[in-house]
Amino acid sequence: MAVIKANAYGHGAVKCARALEPDADWFGVALIEEGVELRRAGITRPILCLGGFWHGQAETIIAHNLTPVIFRFDQIEELHAQAKQASRKVNYHLKVDTGMGRLGVPFAELPAFVRALHPFTNLRLDGLMTHFAEAESLDAEFTELQIGCFQQSLDILREAGLAPVWRHLSNSAGIHSQATALGNLARTGAAMYGFTRDVIAPVPEAFDVKPVLSLHSRIVYLKTVAAGTSLGYGRTFTTTSESRIATLPIGYADGLHRAHSNNGHVIVRGHFAPIVGRVSMDLTMVEVTNISEVQLGDEVILLGKQGDLRISAENLAEQINTISYEVACHLSARVPRMYFG
Ligand SMILES: *Cc1c(COP(=O)(O)O)cnc(C)c1O
Repeated sequence: MAVIKANAYGHGAVKCARALEPDADWFGVALIEEGVELRRAGITRPILCLGGFWHGQAETIIAHNLTPVIFRFDQIEELHAQAKQASRKVNYHLKVDTGMGRLGVPFAELPAFVRALHPFTNLRLDGLMTHFAEAESLDAEFTELQIGCFQQSLDILREAGLAPVWRHLSNSAGIHSQATALGNLARTGAAMYGFTRDVIAPVPEAFDVKPVLSLHSRIVYLKTVAAGTSLGYGRTFTTTSESRIATLPIGYADGLHRAHSNNGHVIVRGHFAPIVGRVSMDLTMVEVTNISEVQLGDEVILLGKQGDLRISAENLAEQINTISYEVACHLSARVPRMYFG
């Protein structure tokens, strides 16, 4: 299952879905709305909506042939009522909470939940899933407990005469660390986009993956300023010597986090150039004094590679105390996506 929720972690859900459709049995999104967007774009593969659905969305689920994850009994009732009205048999995946503690029927409550499913004949339990809490940890003890609960959950279903076609536990971390516990479907997001450091345990045999995404801008204004010149909102940076300052048309509204104010760098003409002053909504300044030949219009890499230099989503994340996932997700709709290959 290619997980393309949150606009494919910022990469562009529809484009990613089209590129991945030959290789993915399933697509995973968080919201019903995200599933509808894919259907409207002509994506025909099964789509699992990982976040369930709100009251009132059952009709949309059926109309667009989406598969919801279910974790509350009122969702069974509502989806069933709508399925019956439409004279349809509707698939869903049941989520059991084996230790993540976020969404899912608590493992202890699963037998009662399953026993109560029998009257709902317009629904079909197509999958059973759970989610790992720390599959990226080097200590697998808790993950193994979760796997044990999942196996028991399958037994509980079997005893009730239910045999879900799809059985799935693993996110990217689980795929890497729990190769024997894959069920018959694996939900991969981060690793598929080429993230590793925040995704998997720090082991030598890491995934051989490459980041899919890079972020580019250009110098929109270039000037030389005297020593003692303050730059940007709040005057948080003052030059100590004559400096070349380049302004970039990218800011926190594009997803370059404001926490990068005086905290980060970009690549210009094969050199790192530090971010100086506050990152503002639409503009950011970098210091390019020692980069000879720098010119108005020069390409600037905020995330990606140029020559031997590289800035990864993990690098950016580390500077602002978050993870690569968040860096990618925050790239806003205002940033044009260009696709190669
Ligand atoms: C987001 C998500 C995934 C994918 O996680 P990655 O770490 O990006 O591989 C898998 N399963 C569920 C339920 C998710 O919400």
